[in-house]
Amino acid sequence: MNSLIIFKNNLRVKDNPPLFYGSKNNKVIPLFIYDNVNIKKELGSASKYWLYHALNSLNESLNSNLLFYKGDSKSIIKSLVKKHSISSVFCEEPFLENDIILFEKIKKILDGLNVSLKFYNSTLLWEPYSILKDDESPYRVFTPFYRKGCLGRLNPKYPLGDCEEIDFLDLSNDTKIDDLELLDEYKWYDKFEALWNISENSALNILHKFLHGPISNYKIGRDFPSSNYNSRLSPFIRFGMISINRIWWEVDKLTADKNIEHYKSELGWREFSYYLMYHFPEMESQNLQSKFDDFEWENSSDKFESWKRGETGFPIIDAGMKELWKTGYMHNRIRMVVASFLVKNLSVDWKLGESWFWDCLLDADFASNIAGWQWVAGTGADAAPYFRIFNPILQGEKFDSKGIYTMKYIPELKKIPIKFLQKPWESDIEVDYPKPIINYRESRENALLKYSFIK
Ligand code: FAD
Repeated sequence: MNSLIIFKNNLRVKDNPPLFYGSKNNKVIPLFIYDNVNIKKELGSASKYWLYHALNSLNESLNSNLLFYKGDSKSIIKSLVKKHSISSVFCEEPFLENDIILFEKIKKILDGLNVSLKFYNSTLLWEPYSILKDDESPYRVFTPFYRKGCLGRLNPKYPLGDCEEIDFLDLSNDTKIDDLELLDEYKWYDKFEALWNISENSALNILHKFLHGPISNYKIGRDFPSSNYNSRLSPFIRFGMISINRIWWEVDKLTADKNIEHYKSELGWREFSYYLMYHFPEMESQNLQSKFDDFEWENSSDKFESWKRGETGFPIIDAGMKELWKTGYMHNRIRMVVASFLVKNLSVDWKLGESWFWDCLLDADFASNIAGWQWVAGTGADAAPYFRIFNPILQGEKFDSKGIYTMKYIPELKKIPIKFLQKPWESDIEVDYPKPIINYRESRENALLKYSFIK
């Protein structure tokens, strides 16, 4: 029998349930569709770069049998099913609203053709619909969600072994990855080449190295952007180049301690982001706490531009924004600090910050990005309270006390004595670096006053 295996957010061959089950006793057609018709939100530029390389790596593992299509998933799947006498379609289980709706339509089409559609959860440790409070309503607070809802239930599934040898349906594959038009002609992304090795094997190597070193100091080390205690697996996880179940169980093999538990809980935050998007899909474009809807953002385009370019005059903010631009990544602590600064001190709507991250992050993730921004803005579930405003000077002094991270991205500040590094305007030394675009103290008081109106 012939089966069609759809790759979406699971661009790997190891521990990939649709591929594993779909290739058992079947001849296989592997397929990737860049659906630019049924989407609400086009992929950001950095994500397209990552996707291009992830697909190349996957295609190599599939002996160049991966079919590439751009367009409407419904008509593409329908025509392939008819043309190649497909009897079953295998795909990851969709958890985001838009994908759920799309796959309901695809299922109807396939039902009409007497073709089965089989879903396998390939992206999350726990299915969001399986976790509810005792009163059957969804959790809105992380700790009980994770402790009682996730850990208190069934364990995540163990990774599947490798597929047996895959028997590909013999077609002349005349589709090309370049038909997806993922890469711009202007090669702005060349800067990423030396920084990221985008392949499934590379993800496994990174995990292996992380588990044999950095994880043993994760709980404390994860907050310091110049040290290497974070796994930097996020873009691989986002595109499913490594299975989340594999990560969970490999971590679980280590002797449990506070570092191991903390790392697992960060994977739990990812689950929580998808969980929230599943139960409250309106979060995509609306404040989860609607009382914030009347909040009056200043939305100054000049301030937003300065933030995007890393020219706010606040070194830790500017270093973070330059890290993002140069590497396609930003350290988690710094994501929180720059997001708080944009929303609270510059009074710019979190949705604008979210869209800049969406365009620039290699790990730009539909759920984690929105949940992260709403958390910082104080508008989401289990959000940082509105009065928690990260002070960029103190954050820089605490988490980058030697200035290694700040000076890496803003070398012109090397001349400034370390005690003034995060407030260079107090130093007598002239450097080619912007003056602060706001008075921090005033902006904080304004934010607190505005937030107090909606309390
Ligand atoms: P590690 O510390 O090694 O953590 C391991 C994995 O756990 C990560 O790869 C990620 O998959 C998950 N994880 C860790 N922290 C979080 C978190 N707070 N929320 C959700 N998952 C988490 N993460 C994304 O993957 N994509 C995004 O688009 C994204 N946008 C964010 C926006 C804001 C404003 C904030 C505050 C956070 C955002 N995060 C996002 C979460 C977090 O910053 C990144 O997952 C993390 O920095 C990735 O680095 P790492 O792989 O070294 O993480």
